[in-house]
Amino acid sequence: MAKLYFRYGAMNSGKSTNMLQAAFNYEERGQQVLLTKPQIDTKGDTAIVSRLGVTRPVDFLITPQDDLWDLFTQKRAQFEAKTGKPLNCLLVDEAQFLTEAQIDDLLRIAILKDIPVLAYGIRTDFQTVAFPGSRRLLEIAHSLEELKTICRCGRKAVFNTRMVDGQYIFDGDQVAIEDGVDVVYESLCGACYLEESGGKFNRTQRGQSVPLGTAYDSGPDADFA
Ligand SMILES: [Zn+2]
Repeated sequence: MAKLYFRYGAMNSGKSTNMLQAAFNYEERGQQVLLTKPQIDTKGDTAIVSRLGVTRPVDFLITPQDDLWDLFTQKRAQFEAKTGKPLNCLLVDEAQFLTEAQIDDLLRIAILKDIPVLAYGIRTDFQTVAFPGSRRLLEIAHSLEELKTICRCGRKAVFNTRMVDGQYIFDGDQVAIEDGVDVVYESLCGACYLEESGGKFNRTQRGQSVPLGTAYDSGPDADFA
């Protein structure tokens, strides 16, 4: 039985580089892969962009409305008809931006279609709160693997800070999409994050409540009934 793997790390921990290397390793052995990512990421348009300068187009994009099980079934059939070879692996970049239902589909693809799924993503946002896709991956992936990167102080970086026009920002939407504003992210260790945030980690400590009961659709999953 194939497995769902979640390889997570802070910003700039080499996730895209690792994913392109994994694709290369499969293809070097004569095996076939499909690459995908959510459409929300506009960093490289329709490509996987690694910081080392290697890029590769994705085979398809995923929108928040997509039924990922159906989309994958369709893309796999097209790929196998075109190449005449079986698909061996699905690689997903920026998996934190997928919906929880789409992460569930990744697990079903691994188990029911017997296709290994390698999902790459950031664990938490700039307020140290899990992205919905990452939280679901941490809950259900067969295998969790941390990709490490270094803080400015030399410790392991685990958090992502948002900087707007050179200033650290600790309030705002989970995904920053603002035209004309220079938004960058810096990976920091816990100590350096607290140094910049004034000693607080998340929204609850800053006096804003986190809505409860919004995380999961509690309806039964037909495939497990
Ligand atoms: Zn540090």
